[in-house]
Amino acid sequence: MSELPDVADNFTALAGEPPEGVWVAPGRINLIGEHTDYNGGYVLPFAIPQAARLAAGRRDRDVWRFRSLDLQSTVEQESLTPGTHGWHSYLAGVVWSLREAGHSVGGADFVLTSDVPIGAGLSSSAAIECATLTALCDLYHLDIDPMQRARLAQRAENAYVGAPTGLMDQAASTLCTADHALFLDCHTLEVRQVPLDVRAAGLEILVVDTKTPHSHVDGEYAARRASCERACRILGIDLLREVTDLDAALARLPELEARRVRHVVTENQRVLEAVDALADADFARVGRLMTASHASMRDDYEITVPTVDLAVETLLGAGALGARMTGGGFGGCVLALIPAADAEAAATAVQRAFTAAGFGAPVSFLAHPSAGARRLA
Ligand code: ADP
Ligand code: MG
Repeated sequence: MSELPDVADNFTALAGEPPEGVWVAPGRINLIGEHTDYNGGYVLPFAIPQAARLAAGRRDRDVWRFRSLDLQSTVEQESLTPGTHGWHSYLAGVVWSLREAGHSVGGADFVLTSDVPIGAGLSSSAAIECATLTALCDLYHLDIDPMQRARLAQRAENAYVGAPTGLMDQAASTLCTADHALFLDCHTLEVRQVPLDVRAAGLEILVVDTKTPHSHVDGEYAARRASCERACRILGIDLLREVTDLDAALARLPELEARRVRHVVTENQRVLEAVDALADADFARVGRLMTASHASMRDDYEITVPTVDLAVETLLGAGALGARMTGGGFGGCVLALIPAADAEAAATAVQRAFTAAGFGAPVSFLAHPSAGARRLA
Protein backbone atom coordinates (compact mmCIF):
# COMPACT_ATOMS: atom_id res chain seq x y z
CA MET A 1 0.00 0.00 0.00
CA SER A 2 3.02 2.24 0.35
CA GLU A 3 2.76 3.42 -3.28
CA LEU A 4 -0.66 4.98 -2.66
CA PRO A 5 -0.71 8.79 -2.80
CA ASP A 6 -0.62 10.52 0.56
CA VAL A 7 -4.22 11.21 1.56
CA ALA A 8 -3.21 13.43 4.50
CA ASP A 9 -1.22 15.84 2.31
CA ASN A 10 -3.99 15.91 -0.25
CA PHE A 11 -6.53 16.53 2.48
CA THR A 12 -4.55 19.53 3.70
CA ALA A 13 -4.41 20.90 0.16
CA LEU A 14 -8.19 20.52 -0.16
CA ALA A 15 -9.36 21.65 3.28
CA GLY A 16 -6.63 24.12 4.23
CA GLU A 17 -5.91 22.19 7.44
CA PRO A 18 -4.67 18.68 8.23
CA PRO A 19 -7.15 15.80 8.60
CA GLU A 20 -8.24 14.66 12.05
CA GLY A 21 -7.15 11.15 11.13
CA VAL A 22 -6.51 8.57 8.42
CA TRP A 23 -8.49 5.33 8.24
CA VAL A 24 -8.11 2.20 6.16
CA ALA A 25 -10.49 -0.60 5.15
CA PRO A 26 -9.70 -3.58 2.91
CA GLY A 27 -11.28 -5.39 0.02
CA ARG A 28 -12.07 -9.09 0.44
CA ILE A 29 -12.04 -12.48 -1.21
CA ASN A 30 -14.37 -15.35 -0.40
CA LEU A 31 -12.32 -18.48 0.33
CA ILE A 32 -15.34 -20.75 -0.09
CA GLY A 33 -19.16 -20.53 0.04
CA GLU A 34 -20.60 -19.18 -3.23
CA HIS A 35 -24.27 -18.31 -3.83
CA THR A 36 -24.98 -19.49 -0.31
CA ASP A 37 -25.69 -16.02 1.15
CA TYR A 38 -29.19 -15.52 -0.25
CA ASN A 39 -30.04 -19.09 0.71
CA GLY A 40 -29.38 -18.34 4.38
CA GLY A 41 -26.09 -20.21 4.26
CA TYR A 42 -22.43 -19.77 5.13
CA VAL A 43 -19.52 -17.81 3.65
CA LEU A 44 -15.83 -17.67 4.60
CA PRO A 45 -14.21 -14.46 3.31
CA PHE A 46 -10.88 -12.96 4.29
CA ALA A 47 -9.57 -9.41 3.93
CA ILE A 48 -6.92 -8.77 1.28
CA PRO A 49 -3.92 -6.43 1.57
CA GLN A 50 -5.45 -4.03 -0.97
CA ALA A 51 -7.45 -1.37 0.86
CA ALA A 52 -9.05 2.04 0.72
CA ARG A 53 -7.25 4.80 2.60
CA LEU A 54 -9.29 7.77 3.77
CA ALA A 55 -8.31 11.07 5.41
CA ALA A 56 -11.21 12.79 7.12
CA GLY A 57 -12.06 15.81 9.24
CA ARG A 58 -15.28 17.28 10.63
CA ARG A 59 -16.95 20.47 9.33
CA ASP A 60 -18.85 22.88 11.55
CA ARG A 61 -22.02 22.61 9.47
CA ASP A 62 -23.90 20.00 7.41
CA VAL A 63 -21.81 20.01 4.27
CA TRP A 64 -19.91 17.06 2.87
CA ARG A 65 -16.95 17.18 0.52
CA PHE A 66 -15.65 14.01 -1.13
CA ARG A 67 -12.42 13.71 -3.11
CA SER A 68 -11.16 10.58 -4.87
CA LEU A 69 -7.50 10.92 -5.79
CA ASP A 70 -7.88 7.90 -8.07
CA LEU A 71 -10.72 9.39 -10.10
CA GLN A 72 -9.44 12.98 -9.67
CA SER A 73 -12.96 13.97 -8.75
CA THR A 74 -14.27 16.26 -6.01
CA VAL A 75 -17.94 16.52 -5.10
CA GLU A 76 -19.54 18.80 -2.49
CA GLN A 77 -23.11 18.52 -1.26
CA GLU A 78 -25.33 19.98 1.45
CA SER A 79 -28.05 17.35 1.42
CA LEU A 80 -28.19 13.55 1.40
CA THR A 81 -30.68 12.00 -1.01
CA PRO A 82 -30.93 8.23 -1.55
CA GLY A 83 -30.63 7.25 -5.20
CA THR A 84 -27.94 9.84 -5.95
CA HIS A 85 -25.52 8.48 -8.53
CA GLY A 86 -21.76 8.75 -8.73
CA TRP A 87 -18.81 7.29 -6.86
CA HIS A 88 -19.30 9.62 -3.89
CA SER A 89 -22.73 8.08 -3.18
CA TYR A 90 -20.97 5.15 -1.45
CA LEU A 91 -19.52 7.62 1.10
CA ALA A 92 -22.54 9.92 1.29
CA GLY A 93 -24.67 6.81 1.76
CA VAL A 94 -22.73 5.92 4.89
CA VAL A 95 -23.36 9.38 6.37
CA TRP A 96 -27.05 9.00 5.47
CA SER A 97 -27.24 5.47 6.90
CA LEU A 98 -25.76 6.58 10.24
CA ARG A 99 -28.13 9.55 10.46
CA GLU A 100 -31.11 7.38 9.48
CA ALA A 101 -30.23 5.05 12.36
CA GLY A 102 -30.38 8.03 14.71
CA HIS A 103 -26.67 8.69 15.14
CA SER A 104 -25.55 12.26 15.44
CA VAL A 105 -23.22 12.83 12.49
CA GLY A 106 -22.49 16.25 11.03
CA GLY A 107 -20.51 17.55 8.06
CA ALA A 108 -17.09 16.26 7.04
CA ASP A 109 -14.38 16.38 4.38
CA PHE A 110 -13.04 13.12 2.94
CA VAL A 111 -10.03 12.43 0.73
CA LEU A 112 -9.80 8.89 -0.61
CA THR A 113 -7.44 6.61 -2.47
CA SER A 114 -7.67 2.84 -2.90
CA ASP A 115 -5.70 0.03 -4.48
CA VAL A 116 -8.67 -2.33 -4.49
CA PRO A 117 -9.31 -2.66 -8.22
CA ILE A 118 -12.79 -1.48 -9.18
CA GLY A 119 -15.18 -4.12 -10.47
CA ALA A 120 -12.79 -7.08 -10.13
CA GLY A 121 -14.99 -8.80 -7.55
CA LEU A 122 -12.75 -7.74 -4.67
CA SER A 123 -15.31 -5.29 -3.26
CA SER A 124 -13.79 -1.90 -3.78
CA SER A 125 -17.21 -0.54 -2.79
CA ALA A 126 -17.24 -2.11 0.68
CA ALA A 127 -13.67 -0.88 1.22
CA ILE A 128 -14.63 2.77 0.71
CA GLU A 129 -17.88 2.40 2.68
CA CYS A 130 -16.24 0.73 5.65
CA ALA A 131 -13.35 3.23 5.72
CA THR A 132 -15.95 6.02 5.80
CA LEU A 133 -17.99 4.34 8.49
CA THR A 134 -14.96 3.72 10.71
CA ALA A 135 -13.81 7.32 10.27
CA LEU A 136 -17.23 8.74 11.18
CA CYS A 137 -17.57 6.47 14.23
CA ASP A 138 -14.23 7.78 15.53
CA LEU A 139 -14.79 11.43 14.61
CA TYR A 140 -18.32 11.56 16.03
CA HIS A 141 -17.60 9.23 18.99
CA LEU A 142 -20.22 6.66 18.02
CA ASP A 143 -20.25 3.45 20.03
CA ILE A 144 -21.46 0.93 17.43
CA ASP A 145 -20.43 -2.72 17.55
CA PRO A 146 -18.62 -4.13 14.49
CA MET A 147 -21.51 -6.21 13.10
CA GLN A 148 -23.87 -3.27 13.40
CA ARG A 149 -21.29 -1.12 11.58
CA ALA A 150 -21.18 -3.65 8.77
CA ARG A 151 -24.98 -3.60 8.55
CA LEU A 152 -25.05 0.20 8.40
CA ALA A 153 -22.50 0.13 5.56
CA GLN A 154 -24.60 -2.50 3.78
CA ARG A 155 -27.68 -0.29 4.22
CA ALA A 156 -25.76 2.55 2.55
CA GLU A 157 -25.10 0.36 -0.48
CA ASN A 158 -28.64 -1.14 -0.60
CA ALA A 159 -30.79 1.88 0.19
CA TYR A 160 -28.68 4.89 -0.81
CA VAL A 161 -26.57 3.64 -3.73
CA GLY A 162 -29.33 1.21 -4.73
CA ALA A 163 -27.25 -1.96 -5.15
CA PRO A 164 -28.98 -5.02 -3.64
CA THR A 165 -25.94 -6.77 -2.16
CA GLY A 166 -25.56 -9.10 0.81
CA LEU A 167 -23.71 -8.46 4.06
CA MET A 168 -20.55 -10.45 3.34
CA ASP A 169 -18.47 -7.64 1.83
CA GLN A 170 -19.03 -5.12 4.61
CA ALA A 171 -18.76 -7.78 7.33
CA ALA A 172 -15.41 -8.91 5.92
CA SER A 173 -14.04 -5.40 5.45
CA THR A 174 -15.06 -4.46 9.01
CA LEU A 175 -14.53 -7.62 11.05
CA CYS A 176 -11.64 -9.54 9.46
CA THR A 177 -8.36 -9.96 11.32
CA ALA A 178 -4.89 -10.76 9.97
CA ASP A 179 -4.15 -14.44 9.31
CA HIS A 180 -7.82 -15.35 9.71
CA ALA A 181 -10.88 -15.90 7.59
CA LEU A 182 -14.28 -14.80 8.84
CA PHE A 183 -17.00 -17.44 9.12
CA LEU A 184 -20.36 -15.73 8.61
CA ASP A 185 -23.74 -17.40 8.97
CA CYS A 186 -25.77 -15.20 6.64
CA HIS A 187 -29.03 -16.11 8.40
CA THR A 188 -28.20 -15.80 12.10
CA LEU A 189 -25.30 -13.34 11.49
CA GLU A 190 -23.12 -15.47 13.77
CA VAL A 191 -19.44 -14.75 13.04
CA ARG A 192 -16.30 -16.59 14.01
CA GLN A 193 -12.61 -15.90 13.38
CA VAL A 194 -11.09 -18.95 11.69
CA PRO A 195 -7.28 -19.29 11.59
CA LEU A 196 -5.88 -18.98 8.05
CA ASP A 197 -2.17 -18.60 8.66
CA VAL A 198 -1.10 -19.90 5.28
CA ARG A 199 2.47 -18.64 5.50
CA ALA A 200 3.13 -20.60 8.68
CA ALA A 201 2.35 -23.69 6.59
CA GLY A 202 4.67 -22.63 3.74
CA LEU A 203 1.70 -21.74 1.54
CA GLU A 204 0.35 -18.72 -0.28
CA ILE A 205 -3.04 -17.75 -1.59
CA LEU A 206 -2.55 -16.89 -5.24
CA VAL A 207 -5.29 -14.86 -6.87
CA VAL A 208 -5.73 -14.69 -10.63
CA ASP A 209 -7.97 -11.93 -11.94
CA THR A 210 -9.09 -13.42 -15.25
CA LYS A 211 -10.11 -9.97 -16.51
CA THR A 212 -13.06 -11.65 -18.22
CA PRO A 213 -15.60 -9.05 -19.21
CA HIS A 214 -18.75 -9.98 -17.30
CA SER A 215 -21.76 -10.43 -19.55
CA HIS A 216 -25.38 -11.30 -18.67
CA VAL A 217 -24.34 -11.48 -14.99
CA ASP A 218 -27.41 -9.73 -13.58
CA GLY A 219 -29.83 -11.89 -15.56
CA GLU A 220 -28.03 -15.12 -14.69
CA TYR A 221 -27.83 -14.13 -11.02
CA ALA A 222 -31.57 -13.44 -10.94
CA ALA A 223 -32.22 -16.78 -12.66
CA ARG A 224 -30.17 -18.67 -10.02
CA ARG A 225 -32.03 -16.95 -7.20
CA ALA A 226 -35.35 -17.72 -8.87
CA SER A 227 -34.40 -21.42 -9.16
CA CYS A 228 -33.62 -21.54 -5.44
CA GLU A 229 -36.90 -19.83 -4.58
CA ARG A 230 -38.82 -22.25 -6.82
CA ALA A 231 -37.12 -25.18 -5.12
CA CYS A 232 -38.05 -23.80 -1.69
CA ARG A 233 -41.70 -23.53 -2.72
CA ILE A 234 -41.71 -27.14 -3.97
CA LEU A 235 -40.01 -28.34 -0.79
CA GLY A 236 -42.22 -26.20 1.45
CA ILE A 237 -39.33 -24.40 3.17
CA ASP A 238 -38.24 -20.75 3.46
CA LEU A 239 -34.51 -21.16 2.85
CA LEU A 240 -32.35 -23.92 1.36
CA ARG A 241 -30.37 -24.00 4.60
CA GLU A 242 -33.31 -25.97 6.01
CA VAL A 243 -32.63 -28.96 3.72
CA THR A 244 -31.46 -31.78 6.00
CA ASP A 245 -31.92 -34.85 3.78
CA LEU A 246 -30.37 -33.87 0.43
CA ASP A 247 -31.26 -37.07 -1.46
CA ALA A 248 -34.88 -36.87 -0.37
CA ALA A 249 -35.04 -33.21 -1.44
CA LEU A 250 -33.42 -33.92 -4.82
CA ALA A 251 -35.93 -36.69 -5.53
CA ARG A 252 -38.76 -34.17 -5.26
CA LEU A 253 -37.27 -31.57 -7.61
CA PRO A 254 -37.15 -31.17 -11.40
CA GLU A 255 -33.72 -31.81 -12.92
CA LEU A 256 -32.56 -28.18 -13.12
CA GLU A 257 -33.70 -27.19 -9.62
CA ALA A 258 -32.15 -30.38 -8.27
CA ARG A 259 -28.72 -29.44 -9.58
CA ARG A 260 -29.01 -25.88 -8.27
CA VAL A 261 -30.05 -27.16 -4.84
CA ARG A 262 -27.27 -29.75 -4.81
CA HIS A 263 -24.74 -26.96 -5.31
CA VAL A 264 -26.11 -24.80 -2.51
CA VAL A 265 -26.51 -27.60 0.02
CA THR A 266 -23.14 -29.22 -0.66
CA GLU A 267 -21.44 -25.81 -0.76
CA ASN A 268 -22.75 -25.01 2.72
CA GLN A 269 -21.43 -28.36 3.89
CA ARG A 270 -18.05 -27.59 2.32
CA VAL A 271 -17.84 -24.28 4.19
CA LEU A 272 -18.44 -26.05 7.50
CA GLU A 273 -15.88 -28.71 6.58
CA ALA A 274 -13.36 -26.03 5.58
CA VAL A 275 -13.79 -24.36 8.99
CA ASP A 276 -13.04 -27.72 10.66
CA ALA A 277 -10.07 -28.36 8.37
CA LEU A 278 -8.63 -24.90 9.07
CA ALA A 279 -8.97 -25.46 12.81
CA ASP A 280 -6.72 -28.52 12.29
CA ALA A 281 -4.45 -26.56 9.87
CA ASP A 282 -5.28 -29.36 7.38
CA PHE A 283 -4.64 -27.34 4.22
CA ALA A 284 -4.64 -30.38 1.94
CA ARG A 285 -8.29 -30.94 2.92
CA VAL A 286 -9.10 -27.25 2.48
CA GLY A 287 -7.62 -27.47 -1.01
CA ARG A 288 -9.76 -30.49 -1.90
CA LEU A 289 -12.87 -28.66 -0.68
CA MET A 290 -11.99 -25.62 -2.83
CA THR A 291 -11.59 -27.75 -5.94
CA ALA A 292 -14.85 -29.58 -5.19
CA SER A 293 -16.54 -26.19 -4.81
CA HIS A 294 -15.31 -25.20 -8.25
CA ALA A 295 -16.63 -28.40 -9.84
CA SER A 296 -20.00 -27.78 -8.18
CA MET A 297 -20.14 -24.20 -9.52
CA ARG A 298 -19.13 -25.43 -12.97
CA ASP A 299 -21.37 -28.51 -13.29
CA ASP A 300 -24.36 -27.94 -10.99
CA TYR A 301 -24.72 -24.17 -10.65
CA GLU A 302 -23.29 -23.45 -14.13
CA ILE A 303 -21.76 -20.08 -13.27
CA THR A 304 -18.20 -20.57 -14.52
CA VAL A 305 -16.81 -19.57 -17.92
CA PRO A 306 -13.90 -20.98 -20.00
CA THR A 307 -11.33 -18.48 -18.66
CA VAL A 308 -11.93 -19.35 -14.99
CA ASP A 309 -12.08 -23.08 -15.73
CA LEU A 310 -8.75 -22.86 -17.56
CA ALA A 311 -7.19 -20.86 -14.70
CA VAL A 312 -8.33 -23.46 -12.15
CA GLU A 313 -7.08 -26.42 -14.22
CA THR A 314 -3.73 -24.74 -14.85
CA LEU A 315 -3.24 -23.85 -11.17
CA LEU A 316 -4.03 -27.42 -10.11
CA GLY A 317 -1.55 -28.68 -12.70
CA ALA A 318 1.07 -26.27 -11.34
CA GLY A 319 0.99 -27.67 -7.81
CA ALA A 320 -1.99 -25.98 -6.13
CA LEU A 321 -3.58 -27.89 -3.25
CA GLY A 322 -6.91 -26.56 -4.47
CA ALA A 323 -8.33 -23.84 -6.70
CA ARG A 324 -11.70 -22.29 -7.38
CA MET A 325 -13.50 -19.33 -8.85
CA THR A 326 -14.51 -16.81 -6.20
CA GLY A 327 -17.39 -14.36 -6.42
CA GLY A 328 -20.72 -14.41 -8.20
CA GLY A 329 -19.42 -16.01 -11.38
CA PHE A 330 -19.19 -15.52 -15.16
CA GLY A 331 -15.63 -14.23 -14.82
CA GLY A 332 -13.80 -12.44 -12.04
CA CYS A 333 -11.09 -13.99 -9.90
CA VAL A 334 -9.81 -17.49 -9.21
CA LEU A 335 -7.92 -18.29 -6.03
CA ALA A 336 -5.53 -21.13 -5.30
CA LEU A 337 -3.93 -22.50 -2.16
CA ILE A 338 -0.39 -23.26 -3.26
CA PRO A 339 3.07 -24.00 -1.83
CA ALA A 340 4.91 -20.65 -1.67
CA ALA A 341 7.74 -22.06 -3.80
CA ASP A 342 5.32 -22.85 -6.65
CA ALA A 343 3.31 -19.61 -6.69
CA GLU A 344 5.36 -17.63 -9.19
CA ALA A 345 5.66 -20.49 -11.69
CA ALA A 346 1.92 -21.14 -11.36
CA ALA A 347 1.11 -17.51 -12.18
CA THR A 348 3.37 -17.76 -15.25
CA ALA A 349 1.71 -21.03 -16.27
CA VAL A 350 -1.73 -19.38 -16.19
CA GLN A 351 -0.42 -16.49 -18.26
CA ARG A 352 0.97 -18.91 -20.89
CA ALA A 353 -2.22 -20.99 -20.92
CA PHE A 354 -4.30 -17.85 -21.48
CA THR A 355 -2.08 -16.72 -24.35
CA ALA A 356 -2.25 -20.18 -25.94
CA ALA A 357 -6.04 -20.19 -25.65
CA GLY A 358 -6.33 -16.71 -27.16
CA PHE A 359 -7.63 -15.17 -23.92
CA GLY A 360 -6.57 -11.70 -22.71
CA ALA A 361 -3.77 -11.41 -20.14
CA PRO A 362 -4.75 -12.25 -16.53
CA VAL A 363 -3.34 -10.41 -13.50
CA SER A 364 -2.02 -12.42 -10.54
CA PHE A 365 -1.18 -11.42 -6.98
CA LEU A 366 -0.67 -12.97 -3.56
CA ALA A 367 -3.50 -12.28 -1.14
CA HIS A 368 -2.29 -12.58 2.40
CA PRO A 369 -5.23 -12.65 4.87
CA SER A 370 -5.14 -9.12 6.30
CA ALA A 371 -6.69 -6.92 8.98
CA GLY A 372 -10.10 -5.26 8.70
CA ALA A 373 -11.05 -1.58 8.96
CA ARG A 374 -8.96 0.48 11.41
CA ARG A 375 -7.48 3.86 12.17
CA LEU A 376 -4.00 4.38 10.73
CA ALA A 377 -3.05 7.76 12.14
P1 ADP B 1 -16.66 -3.85 -6.69
O1 ADP B 1 -16.86 -5.28 -7.06
O2 ADP B 1 -15.25 -3.40 -6.96
O3 ADP B 1 -17.14 -3.54 -5.32
P2 ADP B 1 -18.84 -2.14 -7.36
O4 ADP B 1 -19.53 -1.84 -8.64
O5 ADP B 1 -19.64 -2.74 -6.26
O6 ADP B 1 -17.58 -3.03 -7.72
O7 ADP B 1 -18.22 -0.80 -6.77
C1 ADP B 1 -17.35 -0.03 -7.58
C2 ADP B 1 -17.67 1.43 -7.43
O8 ADP B 1 -17.19 1.91 -6.15
C3 ADP B 1 -16.98 2.29 -8.46
O9 ADP B 1 -17.71 2.34 -9.66
C4 ADP B 1 -16.92 3.64 -7.76
O10 ADP B 1 -18.17 4.29 -7.84
C5 ADP B 1 -16.69 3.23 -6.30
N1 ADP B 1 -15.24 3.22 -6.00
C6 ADP B 1 -14.47 2.17 -5.68
N2 ADP B 1 -13.18 2.54 -5.47
C7 ADP B 1 -13.14 3.87 -5.67
C8 ADP B 1 -12.11 4.86 -5.64
N3 ADP B 1 -10.83 4.52 -5.37
N4 ADP B 1 -12.45 6.14 -5.89
C9 ADP B 1 -13.73 6.48 -6.18
N5 ADP B 1 -14.73 5.61 -6.24
C10 ADP B 1 -14.46 4.31 -6.00
MG1 MG C 1 -19.15 -3.93 -4.65
